[in-house]
Amino acid sequence: MNQLRWDPTLGEWVAYATHRQDRTFLPPAEYCPLDPTKPGGFPTEVPRESYDIVVFENKFPALSPNATEAGGGATSGASAVTAMAPGRGVCEVVLYSQEHDSTLAEMPEGRIRNLVHVWADRYEELGSLDFVEYVFVFENKGEAIGVTLHHPHGQIYAYPFVPPRPKKELESARAYHAANGSCLHCDLLAGELEDGRRVVFAGEHFVAFVPFYAHFPYEAHVYSRRCAPSIADLDDAERRDLARVLKRLLVGYDELFGFSLPYMMAMHQAPTDGGDHAGLAHFHIEFYPPNRTADKLKYLAGSETGAGAYVVDVLPEHTAGTLRGAVEGAGL
Ligand SMILES: [Zn+2]
Ligand SMILES: [Zn+2]
Ligand SMILES: [Zn+2]
Repeated sequence: MNQLRWDPTLGEWVAYATHRQDRTFLPPAEYCPLDPTKPGGFPTEVPRESYDIVVFENKFPALSPNATEAGGGATSGASAVTAMAPGRGVCEVVLYSQEHDSTLAEMPEGRIRNLVHVWADRYEELGSLDFVEYVFVFENKGEAIGVTLHHPHGQIYAYPFVPPRPKKELESARAYHAANGSCLHCDLLAGELEDGRRVVFAGEHFVAFVPFYAHFPYEAHVYSRRCAPSIADLDDAERRDLARVLKRLLVGYDELFGFSLPYMMAMHQAPTDGGDHAGLAHFHIEFYPPNRTADKLKYLAGSETGAGAYVVDVLPEHTAGTLRGAVEGAGL
């Protein structure tokens, strides 16, 4: 059952997907459901002997294209204050490679470029569905983030609403545009380039930097230099450079502490709600690694979770310098 419940105190939806609890399939420990199906072996999610990049619909989705009003249930206690809606949307899994032990950082730039094309394709196709208002591309990587499947993969959630964080970003951009007549993100990027201290790697079309206001010590944002609203707006040269900058940032991440760094990746871009987001939405990717040091993690504790106020124990200028050194040290 896929259901949305409205939190009127925060003004946001919470998605319930109760069937996710019903997962009964317990594969043998050495069996990876995301590997290609070996001849005569266990059937995996990919019934092929080999593959490059694969996208498939999540079998236990947080949101389902078939969710109906009936899924709400008459006894759930929806009222004028606490509204309810079907959890209608699409959840996809994106397999980056058939190599089980690989990571995005280890992949050749050419494959990352193909992945950029896949992301753009999914953004357009899912975004064209009438019930989809926001296509969110993301990746959870590493056990520290709670990942149980180590096969290199990301996910896409196509939401029937614009989720709170991108929504807040768009509202800030709208207010900034009204006051200054320019794109908030374009001006932020210009400021970072001018200052230079937090820039991690500057490509021809994309720039990776630790933002002035980073919420995590090694948080990094990858901004398009051009004010492109979405990944679908990027031309070939821009897609190529995005792959180049991502590769360098990710290799730098792995150099930092000498192990494959866990992170959450989030792509922010124009909603697909039919509105005009030019000059407000500016395509970028954000990375949030949980590590403060090699063996210390930043937890979202009382202040972050209960008050929404982040406390960080190191300045972005400092971590950006370390990360820039790691990228340069990797010598790509
Ligand atoms: Zn695998
Ligand atoms: Zn812009
Ligand atoms: Zn953002």
